[in-house]
Amino acid sequence: MFSQIYETIKKFDKIVLARHVGPDPDAMSSTMALRDSIRLTFPEKHVYAIGSGSQRFTYFGHLDKIDDVSDALLIVLDTPDIRRIDGANLSDFEEVIKIDHHPFVDKFGELELIDDTASSAAELVLELINNTPLVMDKGVASKLYLGIVSDTNRFMFNNSTSRTFKNVSSLIDEYQLNINELYEPLYLRPFNEVKFEGYIGLNLKITADGVAYIKLPNNLLEEFGVDAASPGNMINNFNFIDEVLVWVFFTEDVKNENIRVSARSRGPVINEVLSHYNGGGHKYASGARVKTFSETDLIINDLNAVSRAFKNKNEGDKIENK
Ligand code: AMP
Repeated sequence: MFSQIYETIKKFDKIVLARHVGPDPDAMSSTMALRDSIRLTFPEKHVYAIGSGSQRFTYFGHLDKIDDVSDALLIVLDTPDIRRIDGANLSDFEEVIKIDHHPFVDKFGELELIDDTASSAAELVLELINNTPLVMDKGVASKLYLGIVSDTNRFMFNNSTSRTFKNVSSLIDEYQLNINELYEPLYLRPFNEVKFEGYIGLNLKITADGVAYIKLPNNLLEEFGVDAASPGNMINNFNFIDEVLVWVFFTEDVKNENIRVSARSRGPVINEVLSHYNGGGHKYASGARVKTFSETDLIINDLNAVSRAFKNKNEGDKIENK
């Protein structure tokens, strides 16, 4: 598959890279790193990374704009479903490649490199570069490192495997990455976000089934001076709370007129629940969008059910093993 992707890239003069709406560091990292690598390898090609921009991610570099995509190759990264591709219409392109580490949702690429055992889309791009004549430099290596670090939550999630550590170790060695310097733009944040995180900690509700949740209306975001993306960016910090197996934040997004749902789990599988609410994602890290706060109560109920089932099964297994 790596060489087929390389041969297809080689064939096209115009290449567009896209990723999912509401980008996270892995989506940005995989897109920008692959764009830069293709540019380094083939300086004569026209290569564009598209999608809506975000102030938060300027350290990944500048996004591009392109009006005429005729005869172009589209490479979609970190996105399993057609509806969440940001800024590209599949039928406008000559050929489409998908590179993704989510569980499979839609088939939309002539070539699809899908591996949901990879830690991140960035890790797949790293392996693609390592296994083809695509060129890497320190800039590309740094971007890929940040994507992997972010999607593994600093190697804490169980998507970090020996494969990830080997990949990262060779990156650090070969490109002499200064990881402290790299962490700063990724993790530096304003004090008001820290205060807001404190507010969430103080106001989380926990159900008898071990589901923690909080509803965050826009007036609260305004009061703390944070935006609708902020809660989703801090949700990983609520891991390892003794009483909590699943945690979910509901955030009003006035700009998009919806409620963002961000959920995490340290046991129960939650992406199937979220897929019933216009969402999806990974087994233990999922998201969705709903229209009203009243729908969020249904999500809490469904998450209670999977959490309860998980707890009951674990109790049953313990008794059986005695
Ligand atoms: P987030 O909580 O936004 O960081 O998202 C966690 C995971 O769920 C990521 O893999 C996202 O791509 C996925 N995800 C978030 N929102 C949605 C959605 N509306 N539909 C499908 N997947 C989503």
